[in-house]
Amino acid sequence: MKETNMNEEKVERLIRELLKEIGEDPNREGLVRTPMRVAKALAYLTRGYQMKPHEVVNQAIFESGSDNMVVLRDIDVYSMCEHHMLPFFGHCHIGYISRGKVLGVSKIARIVDCLAARLQIQERLTNEIARAIRDETNAEGVGVVMECQHLCMMMRGVQKQNAVMSTSAVLGSFHDDAATRAEFLSIVSSSHHR
Ligand code: ZN
Repeated sequence: MKETNMNEEKVERLIRELLKEIGEDPNREGLVRTPMRVAKALAYLTRGYQMKPHEVVNQAIFESGSDNMVVLRDIDVYSMCEHHMLPFFGHCHIGYISRGKVLGVSKIARIVDCLAARLQIQERLTNEIARAIRDETNAEGVGVVMECQHLCMMMRGVQKQNAVMSTSAVLGSFHDDAATRAEFLSIVSSSHHR
């Protein structure tokens, strides 16, 4: 899988221009290789544009005898907000009730990475993860809770240093059945105060 379609030379030129605009000298020693590093970092941080959840899963779906709720907690999330192109990061908790098909644990984390490695807003990222899990497993219900800190809030603007944004998405039985939703939320809330 190709990591990027980005034209790195062009991005390097743009970063050099950007350095001038913020009052820097792109030719000073510490900055000479910075445009190249930024281009490579950007290509990596936006690698999700070249990936699809379905390809990431790559048929790592296993038969399971039960239809119990599967919950994966504290999955790391690193993404960039589409409003400021600044990072937001934290973790998410994912639960689903399968119809006899479960995903390998590492594949769930890779779905998160694939959808997070783009310009995102936290609400949409949460929804996209829930839908991808449902679509890949044909789960009867999916719940996703995400808690992130946003550098665009911490370093600028309102400077709410410790604000954690929580978002959630519930599909299928997690949406329709209050008891199922409550079971999921009680499992994930036990990890909230680490
Ligand atoms: Zn932002």
